[in-house]
Amino acid sequence: MISLQEAISLIVSHAESSSSENLSLSESTGRILAESVVADRDYPPFRRATMDGFAVRSNGFSADRIYAYKSEVSAGMSLELQPGEQAVRIMTGAPVPEGLNAVIKVEDSIEEKKGFVRFRLPSVKENLNIALKGEDLKKGEPVLPAGQKIDASTLSLLASLGKKSVQVSRLPKVHIVSTGNEVISVEEEPLPWQIRDSNSYTIRAGLFKFGILPQKTTLAGDEKSVLRESLTEGLDSDILILSGGVSMGNYDLVPSVLADLGVEQIFHKIMIKPGKPIWFGKKKSTVIFGLPGNPFSVQVCFRIFVEAYLRKFSGMPPERPLLLPLAGSRKKKNKLAEFFPAILDSSDQTKVSPKIFNGSGDVTAGLFSEGIALHPAEREELADGDPIEFHFW
Ligand code: AMP
Ligand code: MG
Repeated sequence: MISLQEAISLIVSHAESSSSENLSLSESTGRILAESVVADRDYPPFRRATMDGFAVRSNGFSADRIYAYKSEVSAGMSLELQPGEQAVRIMTGAPVPEGLNAVIKVEDSIEEKKGFVRFRLPSVKENLNIALKGEDLKKGEPVLPAGQKIDASTLSLLASLGKKSVQVSRLPKVHIVSTGNEVISVEEEPLPWQIRDSNSYTIRAGLFKFGILPQKTTLAGDEKSVLRESLTEGLDSDILILSGGVSMGNYDLVPSVLADLGVEQIFHKIMIKPGKPIWFGKKKSTVIFGLPGNPFSVQVCFRIFVEAYLRKFSGMPPERPLLLPLAGSRKKKNKLAEFFPAILDSSDQTKVSPKIFNGSGDVTAGLFSEGIALHPAEREELADGDPIEFHFW
């Protein structure tokens, strides 16, 4: 059986690369940039006043002097100094006129009478309250690499740089298949031994984080012929995500049906808990994740393995998990790497507090947790304060 790290490496090494598409700026929110972007001009593009007040010259400034001023410059205009002009009224966001090099805020000024002002400062430094041209970005400077998620900071920057449209990674076509003779649709009334399909919703929510809506969700049961039909249809997508049917039971038929359909198995089973029976394979450009059926296993396997795939597929860099101190100690008896639901306890320093649950079949296992933490395979016991890997949901 392979380790957690080996599994992630295999998944990533079998990842296809998404093609890209051009979207208008407003449609690109939440998508992954598929081009690198450079600054089209200096930012700020001009010397910008950062305060309302008076623009003056720092050299030769004197607090004893009364400055006459006539002109005013506000955001959205530019102003040329008249011969002999030593001060102008200036507003935040306005370009500082050529020849002046400091802005004294209005609170530091005393208006002697209309058009005459004195300042409460003993001296004035060059560039006081001025954002310099190009101090934020220089024209031609690389600013956004491909693979960047278009969040608020990115989107507003793209707008500032005048990118009316952007190349983004195409979203994958995803097909979800829930197996299990006991599994019924949420629309139906369950008999006592039946279980409502929740896994397809877990997967749907996981995909939504990447802006992906599944093309289709199928309940396939455990009959070989029905399973075969559903999986054949699912192989027409970029990513086929199954739940259930990959363990050792008599009705765990997913691996054999996939083999019949010519899907190459890349691995079956990883040294982890929950999620040990996970299956991964590929046929042409379609990858297939067979996730174990328990609700929490699906959540963990999606978060760790499917997300690693989606990141690589869309050109994002690999995830860098947080390392946070554990609250209390934690023991484990097996040789598996264990993921457990975790709550961030910030009563003192932020610590990772394991959430108590019965097992991966609990429908509430992940509820109210902030993410999952990893108890590494080789560590029997973790002590209070030990740094552990933490992944926000
Ligand atoms: P399996 O991996 O098929 O052996 O399923 C393991 C457990 O997960 C069983 O108790 C199933 O009833 C449950 N399970 C399987 N599929 C689903 C599903 N789609 N939604 C909720 N629970 C499921
Ligand atoms: Mg099953």
